[in-house]
Amino acid sequence: MSIEPDDDALAAALLARQRRALAKAITLVESSRPDHRLRAQSLLDKLLPHTGKAYRIGISGVPGVGKSTFIEAFGMHLLAQGLRVAVLAVDPSSPLTGGSILGDKTRMERLSQQENAYIRPSPARGALGGVGHQSREAMLICEAAGYDIIIVETVGVGQSETAVAGMCDVFLLLQLPNAGDELQGIKKGILELADIVVYNKADIDPRAAAVAAGQMRAALHMLRPASPHWQMQVIQASASTGTGIEEIWATLQNYRKTMQHLGAFEERRKHQAQTWMWQLVEAGLQERFRNHDAVRAALPQALQQAADGTTNPATLATLLLDAFRH
Ligand code: GDP
Repeated sequence: MSIEPDDDALAAALLARQRRALAKAITLVESSRPDHRLRAQSLLDKLLPHTGKAYRIGISGVPGVGKSTFIEAFGMHLLAQGLRVAVLAVDPSSPLTGGSILGDKTRMERLSQQENAYIRPSPARGALGGVGHQSREAMLICEAAGYDIIIVETVGVGQSETAVAGMCDVFLLLQLPNAGDELQGIKKGILELADIVVYNKADIDPRAAAVAAGQMRAALHMLRPASPHWQMQVIQASASTGTGIEEIWATLQNYRKTMQHLGAFEERRKHQAQTWMWQLVEAGLQERFRNHDAVRAALPQALQQAADGTTNPATLATLLLDAFRH
């Protein structure tokens, strides 16, 4: 897709909620071309005063748990309340195949056809700034375009969950009511990110879902809560039949109200913005380091010496960092 030369026009069209402008702006922030990166930054600077009003909801769960089905049903529920909904994805890519895990299958077909919904497929990996960087920027673009709710979807693998929890106001984890799942989640540390846990597919075996939810509630004391101001909520639902969707939305609203009241909502966002800045500084430093002439010249030998064990890696690191200074 070509990108319009005039950023002011693009910003204006975006604020006027033109869909084409939205797609173009996101394409711009997803591009890794250096000139596009600069333009994306200037566009985001222009848009920043118009961002921050949406409710940012992160959703994760293993493949097959029902994320697409849930987001479609939940999204339709939100549209019915007059809200505008954008769905973004952070796809960690399969460590084995390098391919997409969330998949390119046609997802959320009904939701994607709605006037007040926008669904963005996951961007390609490998851009500067680490996992989720482009989605963070795409989120700001969607906010400027007037979306009330931004759903950021990811899948239960790798660093992507930490990245999504780190860019959203609230993190919702979808689980299957299988015995033992709770403990796996605790082991992986993912449950500690979750503000709300939803046992999906409760229609298949309501008793199993109730038991799983009960066990989860009983195990809560083993977890370090994601926020000291909020007790994790456990809900049973069926994305297929729509059971539980209303309760989930009510809980999400309650979460926002509680956190806002305590000032914790804003605090979380401030902290996220600072962390994001540091991540970009670190990514930028690393790139500059790797492209630095003296570092590049010294690197092959340093790597060889590290591998051979002839020089202490710490000494080699100091040598390279000194080379970077000059
Ligand atoms: P994702 O990989 O997490 O996005 O999962 P999908 O939304 O693609 O769902 C995987 C399969 O589970 C699909 O065949 C869905 O129709 C089915 N599914 C999702 N939610 C439910 C549910 O609540 N109940 C039942 N019975 N099936 C569901």
